[in-house]
Amino acid sequence: MVGRNGEAVPGCYGGVRREVNEDFPVFVGGPPALQSPQPNNHKKVANMAQVRKTLPFFQTLVLLTLASPLAQAQDQFDGVELAIEPVAGNVYMVQRPGGGGNIGVQVGPEGALLVDSLFAPLADRLVAAVKSVTDEDIRFLINTHIHIDHVGGNENLAEMGVLIFAHDNTRLRFLEERSHFPRNGGTFAAQQPAAARPVITFDNGITFHLNGEEVRAFLAPPAHTDGDVFVYFTESDVLHLGDVYRTTSYPIIDVYNGGTLKGTIEALDLALQIAGPQTKIIPGHGLDVMSRDDVVEFRDMVLDIQGKVLALIREGRKLDEVVAARPTADYDAQWTNDPGWGPDDFVPVVYYQLGGAGRVADR
Ligand SMILES: [Zn+2]
Repeated sequence: MVGRNGEAVPGCYGGVRREVNEDFPVFVGGPPALQSPQPNNHKKVANMAQVRKTLPFFQTLVLLTLASPLAQAQDQFDGVELAIEPVAGNVYMVQRPGGGGNIGVQVGPEGALLVDSLFAPLADRLVAAVKSVTDEDIRFLINTHIHIDHVGGNENLAEMGVLIFAHDNTRLRFLEERSHFPRNGGTFAAQQPAAARPVITFDNGITFHLNGEEVRAFLAPPAHTDGDVFVYFTESDVLHLGDVYRTTSYPIIDVYNGGTLKGTIEALDLALQIAGPQTKIIPGHGLDVMSRDDVVEFRDMVLDIQGKVLALIREGRKLDEVVAARPTADYDAQWTNDPGWGPDDFVPVVYYQLGGAGRVADR
């Protein structure tokens, strides 16, 4: 793998194939994970209790009996308008105000390439947004990882003839019976249809030679999931980091899909090796295009919280004591703008990832 200035990029990580989402609770309908390492779904239970209290009984019944997950999902997207903004060079970003994975779009005379596909109900609006900046066809789609807000539009795009690429591990996730989400202590959603599966997969990386530039898609260390892919547009100098980097919350380390704390830090370091001072960085979530300095701040925040939690573990503190000590207190005001992933969700993951309740020596 070659980086921005032609130097070798360390960290071309051979994927560990595991035998066998997160970003949107709308689709979640299955049972919680039986072996969740995050015994922490109090927030969801509390919220549901509040909702039920505020609704008359008959309304609650109607909601429970008539509203299918699909109908709820459709309602969720009524009236949503997508915006497409120039980032740099040939690259644009499609945003969904109000939440949803950011789409990278490279356009030119040889056709368009997308990074991620948002939700299925928004696929037509995604295509319309792309068509507003190019007359050429959408030819290629790269999925940065398995979550529904990044692969939901796959089937629709495949029906248009778009060729879908992803890491080997991400395709394996498509083959699971149900899709797993990290929020609320681990939940399941219906699996994507077969037509949504990536047609071409890769291990370390793949390069597109398109519209006058090399577009490099490559595996990052296991951070958000074990199929995280970064996409670097070499001439435009734009780096799409998927959900390894988000500006709305603490990093979501999806342990159910192979994400790790160690990999999160390594992946952010890899991004910092590739990015230069002028590089435009597209986060997985958040409406602004970011810079290398912003990623440094995010990485340093993770390192600081890791250090604080590790110190508490070494003092022999149990999880409830670590959470009560509020090791994220300095950051909560800035990094809790994403419902379903606050300190009560993030700190337990950090605790367990560092060997809390296990051997610290193995962290
Ligand atoms: Zn995600």
